[in-house]
Amino acid sequence: MMTASRKLSSFRLPPFPTVGEIIKLYNLRAEKQLSQNFLLDLRLTDKIVRQAGCLRDAHVCEVGPGPGGLTRSILNSGAKDVLVVEKDTRFIPGLKLLSEAAPGRLRIVHGDILSYRMDRGFPETISKPWEGDPPNLHLIGNLPFSVSTPLIIKWLESMANRTGPFVFGRTRLTLTFQKEVAERLTASTGSKQRSRLSIMAQYLCTVHNCFTIPGRAFVPKPKVDVGVVHFTPLVQPQIQHPFKLVEKVIRNVFQFRRKHCYKGVEKLFPEASRVKLTQEMLQSADVDPTLRPTELTIPQFRALADAYAHLCTHEPSLFNYEYRVELQMKPLTRQRNKPEDTYIMDELTKAK
Ligand code: SAM
Repeated sequence: MMTASRKLSSFRLPPFPTVGEIIKLYNLRAEKQLSQNFLLDLRLTDKIVRQAGCLRDAHVCEVGPGPGGLTRSILNSGAKDVLVVEKDTRFIPGLKLLSEAAPGRLRIVHGDILSYRMDRGFPETISKPWEGDPPNLHLIGNLPFSVSTPLIIKWLESMANRTGPFVFGRTRLTLTFQKEVAERLTASTGSKQRSRLSIMAQYLCTVHNCFTIPGRAFVPKPKVDVGVVHFTPLVQPQIQHPFKLVEKVIRNVFQFRRKHCYKGVEKLFPEASRVKLTQEMLQSADVDPTLRPTELTIPQFRALADAYAHLCTHEPSLFNYEYRVELQMKPLTRQRNKPEDTYIMDELTKAK
């Protein structure tokens, strides 16, 4: 009988050019405009992959493989079917070389992950009932920050609707974010980092901030550090209303982050009925109007969503009302080095 270590060694790739050599071979300069920062240290990519759990015989979708460092770690961990989605055509020849070294285990899609139909990427037979264990399918990626935030918002909506990667069940995700965003995704009630993203992620998933990678580990080095975050969708979301309604309540409540929460709740309603309906909503949710948005728990957001849904049932036109944000957003930057705050708000609004 083969020992466990011999079994694992049979998954390992044969001797092969290093990631650095592949970069040189194909002249893969990182494109600053595309915020490309590569991980060349395979101990680090192995560590990221370990956060996903056991990948033996797993199906994996890796987003943005680039020169393929993380891809090698995924293949070495024993995944039997790795689908990589890469937007930049320059990386395709290097990935093909990797695919030849792992026959039948690496599929390459040249495309944009934001529009890729993941529901068609894997066989139906891997599906697991939502209420059961998660399927043996994992999403893993080290993407530019400007893509990872809109992508997680899109995937949270897909999770709520059980579409895209979640047609297969409670697919788990292991993704990198700018460190501050990783902290926001996992921030608890009352913490300084508590934000819309915290509530959106935590009402749908168990979210774990695994570890931080210093910026110096990337080539070229970004100005910020990077957090690796693991998501497991919950069997029962903590708020059971349509995603768009929940997102609207959360977005409005957080509109005035430092003020009392009633200020944001007010903005859910047209001026003529604002005071009356805000009072009704907060009373029915039993939420203290003087709490700050960051102090509200997820059960309190659930109560607010229940109360808002109830008001909308009686007056359906309420749901179409949108308070105009007069704030001029700064032009969006698409650089890994820039803080994400400038576009998180915009992306959340787009996600509606
Ligand atoms: N995963 C590699 C690593 O860790 O070294 C590369 C990381 S680099 C930060 C991000 C990669 O994602 C690049 O290869 C880039 O071309 C790719 N990418 C960027 N936007 C993408 C998108 N929308 N869809 C698919 N790939 C994308």
